[in-house]
Order: sequence, then C-alpha cells, then structure tokens
Amino acid sequence: MSAVEVDVLVAGAGPVGLAFALLLEQQCPALRSQRLRLALLDRRAAPSPPDGPELRVLALSPASRRLLEACGAWDSLAAGRLYPYEDMQVWASTGQPGARHSICFSAAELGVPALGWIAGADALRHALWSVLPMNSGLSVVLGEPSALEAGPEAISVTLANGHEIRTRLLVGADGASSWVRERLGVPSGASPYDQLAIVGRVRCEQPHRSTAWQRFAPGGPLALLPQDAQACSIVWSRPQEEARRLLALDDQAFAAELTEASGHCLGALSPEGPRAGFPLSRAHADHYTGARFALLGDAAHRVHPLAGQGVNLGLLDAGALAESLADALADPFSDPGDWRALRRYERERRGPNLATLVALDGLHQLFAAPAGPLRLAGAAGLGLVDQLRPVKHALARVALGEGHDLPRAARAVSDQRS
Ligand SMILES: Cc1cc2nc3c(=O)[nH]c(=O)nc-3n(C[C@H](O)[C@H](O)[C@H](O)COP(=O)(O)OP(=O)(O)OC[C@H]3O[C@@H](n4cnc5c(N)ncnc54)[C@H](O)[C@@H]3O)c2cc1C
Repeated sequence: MSAVEVDVLVAGAGPVGLAFALLLEQQCPALRSQRLRLALLDRRAAPSPPDGPELRVLALSPASRRLLEACGAWDSLAAGRLYPYEDMQVWASTGQPGARHSICFSAAELGVPALGWIAGADALRHALWSVLPMNSGLSVVLGEPSALEAGPEAISVTLANGHEIRTRLLVGADGASSWVRERLGVPSGASPYDQLAIVGRVRCEQPHRSTAWQRFAPGGPLALLPQDAQACSIVWSRPQEEARRLLALDDQAFAAELTEASGHCLGALSPEGPRAGFPLSRAHADHYTGARFALLGDAAHRVHPLAGQGVNLGLLDAGALAESLADALADPFSDPGDWRALRRYERERRGPNLATLVALDGLHQLFAAPAGPLRLAGAAGLGLVDQLRPVKHALARVALGEGHDLPRAARAVSDQRS
C-alpha cells in the first residue's frame, strides 16, 4: 500500500490540535490554496453538539476567546451553553470570601467585560470541528497510530489499519499520555499528585452572581464555576482514597460534605446528574521540538487544574506554532519541518508554560501542606496580595492573557501594535 504524503500531520484533534490546524489555515495561504496539505488524525470522530449540561467544563480566558475568534469557532461556541464569570473569589479555609485570607478579582475593576467563560469540553471540540473548512488543504483521518519511523526528509506514521502517512512535520497534540511524545522518546518527568478531581454539576441555594468561587482547604481546593441560574460545575480535588469514598456516597451524603467543603458560600449545594473523578498529575516535556516534530498542549505540559489553565496554555501553544510556521511558510521554498520555525515556537512557549506549571505546583504544595506555618503563610499571602493592588492587577493581567509576548491572534487590540 503506498503512503499518503502530507506536509503537516497533527496527531490529536482535541481542542489544541484543532485550534492549531485552524489557525495555521487562517494564516497560511499555501494551505488554503491546497499547495500544502495538513491531516488531522484522531481515534475519535467529530462530537455531536451536546444536548444538555456537560460533566466536564473548561474555564476559558479572554486570550483563549481571541484565539477561538481567530479560528472562527467562538460564535458557534457562544450560540450554545457558555457562561461568563465577572468576579472571582479565592479564599483559604481559615478565612472567608471577601474578608480574611482571601483575594477577589473583579472584571469591572480591571476594565474588562468578563474574567473568563465556562464552556463544556465537548461543546468546545464540537465548535472547532464545525468550522473545519472543506475546500482547503486540511483533511481528517480517523484512526490510531501504531508505528513511527523518523527519517531526515520525513516522518512515517503507520496506522493500526496498515495505512501509512508520510509527513514533513509531525505535531503531537495527542494529550497527556501522548503516543507521539513516547515514540519520539521525549521524557516528560510525569509525576502524579495523588489526587482525583471530582467533577459534576450542582444546584446552589443562593445565586452565584456570575462569580467563580475557589476555596483552598487541606487536601485540595474546591472550585464552583457558575453556569445557568443557580447551578455551578464543581472541580473538587481530594486525596485519591477520600475522593473514591466521596464518589461512592449517595446524593444526600455527598451534598452534605460538599456544602461543608464550600464553607456554605452559596448555601446548600445539591448534586444534579452524574459525577466522575479524574486523576491529576504534572508533567513537562524536556523539549517541545526536535527533528521534524513539535509537541503542543497536554502532550507538552500538564498542570494542576486548580487555576483552570491547561487548555488556555495549550491554545497559546497552538497560536504560537501556527504563527511561527505561517511566517516561515510565506517563503514558497521553505520546509514545514525547518528547525528555525520550530525553535522559535519553543522559545516563545516553554518559559511561560514552565512558569505557570511551577506557580500552580507551588500553590498546590502550599495549601496541601499539613496545618502549620507553610499553610498559614499561604492563607495570609492571599490577603496580602489582595491589599497590594499593583501586584494583584499584574497577576490578573497575566491570567487574562494580556501583553505583547503572546501570539498575535491572542493579543488584546491594545497590545496588537507591538
Ligand atoms: C478535572 C479537570 C478540569 C480541568 N479544567 C480546566 C479548565 O477549567 N480550564 C483549562 O484551561 N483546562 C482545564 N483542564 C485541562 C484541560 O482539560 C486540558 O489541558 C486540555 O483538554 C488539553 O487539550 P489537548 O487538546 O492538548 O489534549 P486532549 O484534550 O487530551 O485531546 C487529545 C486528543 O488526542 C486524541 N488522541 C490521544 N491519543 C491518541 C491516539 N493514540 N490515537 C489517536 N488519537 C489520539 C484524543 O482522542 C483527543 O481528541 C482540566 C483538566 C481536568 C482533568
């Protein structure tokens, strides 16, 4: 059987792989005119539009919104269930929201319409799939890779069904257990957190006021992410054994423990529908690029979900690699696997991703520590940063994704001139 030849093969059509393909298509005329070809490979077909609230939700930053607008997927996402949050209350279990040991971020104070938006994970994937262009150099292949052979001119990927794809650039966007990363032998220092994140939907006795709530308690944080009127999604990180016990409780017992863990910030909480637990870990690939390959999103880095940053970092990776490649491919004689474009992407994204990973890991260690000076320092630190307005605003601006060191498609209009 003869091999299919493409210029770019993206393994993994999750949110990050799809966004990368769309952003490259937007910025690269050679792909639109079909002079270059890109194939997206995934074992899962396009998701159907979700017909109800989802178990897994994602908090998307304003920078992610701009990238999704550039992909053409934002309107489709916004036409479904998408909930903005205008404030964020973060506090330690030794304090109270808006009082001791707490910090509050407000969109009004920062002069932005929202701090972020809560979207369903399937809704995001569906919105991205739905705008894949038909008449361009993009195509989708359903299947699983089973073998890889790297050569100087191309990488050959053989699928489980025996078909072979030869590509000049292989992009690994195949998630935390990346097959591409493993096969290329890139270490990622993966290390488990010994925690499960329990997710599900709850009804709240009091209105959530379009606020994202996060309470840091010993053992792990609980986030309440606002949805439609008086309903929230939870992301509740607990030590594995305890999480399994909580998952096995009946609704009434689960509701009682959850309400207690929330510090009663929204009154009584009652679960609606199923709940599930996701094992948590951190990982960072030793390098994101090499001979004719690049790693993106969770394939390159995995962070604790306590600040809802994973897909936001991945979308920035997608924007940076698309921009770097599109600039290089403006020269009709250039090679998509050219190491200069790949190195530029790695230089732009490795540092910020590492900084986020270290910061989130530090927060996790601080609050997961047993009762004592470390945990108290963390709690007091929240209150202190809340008082130091310039520091607090600088932190918020990073989380909102403002600044000129972002990919062009992710920059706020005021930052786009630099
Ligand atoms: C509980 C929890 C809450 C989270 N909340 C947030 C949040 O609020 N905000 C946020 O930004 N992030 C959040 N995250 C992180 C976020 O889910 C991930 O960062 C994001 O899904 C990564 O996207 P990705 O496209 O890189 O990988 P994935 O979403 O894992 O997609 C990978 C794709 O590759 C395909 N694939 C994988 N292996 C193969 C193979 N061998 N063959 C073929 N196809 C393959 C898969 O089918 C999939 O489509 C959370 C994570 C967890 C666990």
